[in-house]
Amino acid sequence: MTICAVCAREARGFGYVHRLQHDRYPYHLFCSLRCQDVGSAIAQRNNGMIDKTAREAQAIRDARVLFAEALTDLGLMAPFFNRTAADIDRLIEAAVTGYVDSMLAQGARKERTGTAHDDPIPF
Ligand SMILES: [Zn+2]
Repeated sequence: MTICAVCAREARGFGYVHRLQHDRYPYHLFCSLRCQDVGSAIAQRNNGMIDKTAREAQAIRDARVLFAEALTDLGLMAPFFNRTAADIDRLIEAAVTGYVDSMLAQGARKERTGTAHDDPIPF
């Protein structure tokens, strides 16, 4: 599976290469027109490259503290204690990506009213 260069979901046929120079710049794949627009804008600002922004990298580092607190509260710190920071960051990124994917998918659907009988009739 190839992944989107912006959001890490599955890429679906959208792409960008800086200045259309395939021999000089990497070819970035995207999941959607939205991510292609964002990713190509980033690549144009960064000489054809798309990397985590400094803010994204800092946000993941900052999340390590809360992650460690949750592990400690749940008595799960021992299996994680000797893992590398990259391993911990990978877990945090996976959770954040799953959360953001869900929010994006839910945002594309009409929100339920919260009443008892607002599920679609199953027949
Ligand atoms: Zn994407």
